Amino acid sequence: MEQKLKNQIAIITGSSSGIGAGVAKSLAEAGAIVVINYPLPGGLDAANNVLDEITGSGGKGITFLCDVSKEEDVLKMFAAVIKEFGTVDILVNNAGIQKDAPFEDMTLAQWNLVLGVNLTGQFLCAREAIREFLRRGVDDSRSKAAGKIIHMSSVHQEIPWAGHANYASSKGGIKLLMESIAQEFAPKKIRINSICPGAIQTPINQSAWGTAEALKSLLTLIPYQRIGQPEDIGKAAVWLASDDSDYITGASLFVDGGMTLYPGFSTNG
Ligand code: NAD
Repeated sequence: MEQKLKNQIAIITGSSSGIGAGVAKSLAEAGAIVVINYPLPGGLDAANNVLDEITGSGGKGITFLCDVSKEEDVLKMFAAVIKEFGTVDILVNNAGIQKDAPFEDMTLAQWNLVLGVNLTGQFLCAREAIREFLRRGVDDSRSKAAGKIIHMSSVHQEIPWAGHANYASSKGGIKLLMESIAQEFAPKKIRINSICPGAIQTPINQSAWGTAEALKSLLTLIPYQRIGQPEDIGKAAVWLASDDSDYITGASLFVDGGMTLYPGFSTNG
């Protein structure tokens, strides 16, 4: 594979599992040095497993403990990465959680937890990345852009989701966070985009694919008739992080097998 991200430093939040792990592997394959972030000390083994797979295939990276919803943790992570590698080129704002509840039963704690990780966490990490990109500016030997941010949003930045008001609100918030900062920093040659996954086979949504019955029901929502895999997102992330997408900023790239195509209308509505 051509190393389109050779020696670029990439922080991928929440990358000890699922989509984040897939993205970290794809970016490392494209030559990036990856930071595998995990939120709790107990997650170190899982993070090391992802890193072992990467280094076993000739890639490079480190693991880093950081809860993205905590400002002091985020400041520490960026300071440590910049100290070790000199700069940051790519941020993949991927960490996200669900705490589902019928709206009338949703607690403030459930609301705050999801907004804290999914939206505030993306704000905190994006702000630190932007500060570093502004400090460094464009270095042609690295990339045409001063830096790239990829927000992991969801089809639920568009599709309302009953029983998941906190999650859908966080993803709707990411859409305008991404677009606002993309507008603000385009003149500084910083590119900021979102990937909006549909159903990707990871721990977060196991109930949707864990049994044959659940999978059959899920596939009625996916015109392309398969569940997505983390590498589907990884390939999109490599493209959005590379100079191949140099004229793209402020875009939401739906990687969803057609989930946002209103599949209910495929049989004449
Ligand atoms: P996952 O549960 O495997 O991954 C979520 C990751 O976030 C985990 O590694 C977890 O440790 C990490 N995390 C949780 N809280 C954190 C915190 N405070 N700080 C740092 N890391 C934290 O699920 P996934 O499907 O890989 O989800 C990754 C992202 O993709 C999420 O933002 C999710 O909303 C989004 N997404 C997933 C799907 C899907 O179908 N799987 C669809 C749309 C969007």
